[in-house]
Amino acid sequence: MKGLMQDWPLSVTTIIDHAARFHGEREVVTRTVEGPFHTTNYKEIHLRARKVAQALEKIGAKQGDIIATMAWNTHRHLEAWYGIMGMGAVCHTLNPRLFAEQLVYIANHAEDQFILVDLTFVPVLEAVADQLKTVKGYIIMTDRAHMPETTLKNVHCYEEIVEAESGDYKWATIDENDACGLCYTSGTTGNPKGVLYSHRSNVLHALIGGSADVMGLRSVDVVLPVVPMFHANAWALAFSAPMAGAKLVMPGSKMDGESIYELLDNEKITTTAAVPTVWLMLLQHLQKTGAKLPALNKVIIGGSAAPRTMIETFEREYGAEVIHAWGMTEMSPMGTLGALKAGMEDLTTEQLLDVKVKQGRAVYTVEMKITDDDGVELPWDGKAFGPLLVKGPAVAGSYLKSEGGNILDADGWFDTGDVATIDENGYMQITDRAKDVIKSGGEWISSIELENTAVGHPDVAEAAVIGIVHPKWDERPLLICVAAEGKNPTKEDLLSYLEGKIAKWWTPDDVVFVDEIPHNATGKILKRALREQFKDYVLPTASAAE
Ligand code: AMP
Repeated sequence: MKGLMQDWPLSVTTIIDHAARFHGEREVVTRTVEGPFHTTNYKEIHLRARKVAQALEKIGAKQGDIIATMAWNTHRHLEAWYGIMGMGAVCHTLNPRLFAEQLVYIANHAEDQFILVDLTFVPVLEAVADQLKTVKGYIIMTDRAHMPETTLKNVHCYEEIVEAESGDYKWATIDENDACGLCYTSGTTGNPKGVLYSHRSNVLHALIGGSADVMGLRSVDVVLPVVPMFHANAWALAFSAPMAGAKLVMPGSKMDGESIYELLDNEKITTTAAVPTVWLMLLQHLQKTGAKLPALNKVIIGGSAAPRTMIETFEREYGAEVIHAWGMTEMSPMGTLGALKAGMEDLTTEQLLDVKVKQGRAVYTVEMKITDDDGVELPWDGKAFGPLLVKGPAVAGSYLKSEGGNILDADGWFDTGDVATIDENGYMQITDRAKDVIKSGGEWISSIELENTAVGHPDVAEAAVIGIVHPKWDERPLLICVAAEGKNPTKEDLLSYLEGKIAKWWTPDDVVFVDEIPHNATGKILKRALREQFKDYVLPTASAAE
């Protein structure tokens, strides 16, 4: 027997409709790419999103087209998102930090029809425009006064074409399973692969994202998504915040410690989310200036492992609760978050930190398991570790154009490429990316844990650990550090700091200092580049072993 409830398609347009109707005056504040702050509200965003849809249709875009954005988090990007998705097209968020070659591959593979681009990235597109085979035109996201000289062809001024429209527009009729968003992931081997989100998967994911033990968004919250919209949907915040009626503050292009502090302070941000690199810059700024953050309640840290000292500093010195999050582009992106559970009230501070450094427990709709190499499920004891597999309605079932073939096993599980433990309470902890794990004498060493411990040293700004070939042990860890500003730590300082904090046999065989550690387009340490850089490195322990 079928249920007798209404058929109400889960379309992302319902989110902005709801925000405009019930939270119309709630503000969206942006640090614009042009410089000054700009304030609008959900009612205006809703109106302008419909104008964007009209303007795009006028210049030739159609339902089902892939329309790209290459833009920072701004009010314009937000209204363009809803406009593109609302006209039944697919919003493809291009990551501007990609190498030119990857960018060309991705835009051609996706068959992007138009690109909406921020002023910052016009030169990036100019450099590759003659290789973009399907792009019919560019919309520069600024007003007439700021339009640049450009070699791009078929260029439109965003403000001009948007403001020429009335906004009298009815969203396209869509099926909730229609595609609405596209984001390429470069995490796996081979070419980047497109993850194609549906209206339904995004709405479900946004509902989950806003829920109490996930990001816990309320209408009284003021949310700063530092995590870019071009990185896995800004962790659903561009959907979850309007859904809740929370105020949004968009950071534009400036993500240095001082600029982020300015937003946190001026706008009295309650909830914010970013990768650890951003928080590192903020904490350095706070420590230098002695500033405090009285309004801040919640800091969501994900994308890479949050170091223990970072969690401790936010919680102890700044009174903000840290929620450690793990996910991936293929998961929309949230998979697990580390909110505490009942029964943990009496844990000591150190025990609480032990829980918080873990990547957290699965959000509703995410199924999760770890297996051994033969695919047999491993126990949830916090010790056994193996490949982490997931399932759910907001998890990719295949990549765009079936790139990479069948990505699910016979039972529908997706292999995340991460290696993890899961404890008795369901808290998952990433040991490593499968390809980054260091194999020493047949046992595994977690590069993530070593990095996070090393970065706790006050004189270290950033740390990376890679495996170096070793004649006896197969591989041994090399610790690569960037010294904190004005500091000069030595190998001995680091090794004695690690003593007692890690298993003795995990101790790195050497420590080197570099000016900079390379990062990929989403801010993760580029282990591949480090392995290349140090491929001929000989560990001091290597000759002794021979
Ligand atoms: P992306 O698709 O670019 O978001 O990358 C996803 C990958 O980032 C995951 O498979 C993990 O390897 C890594 N990752 C994300 N969040 C965390 C975290 N909190 N701790 C450790 N690794 C993480």
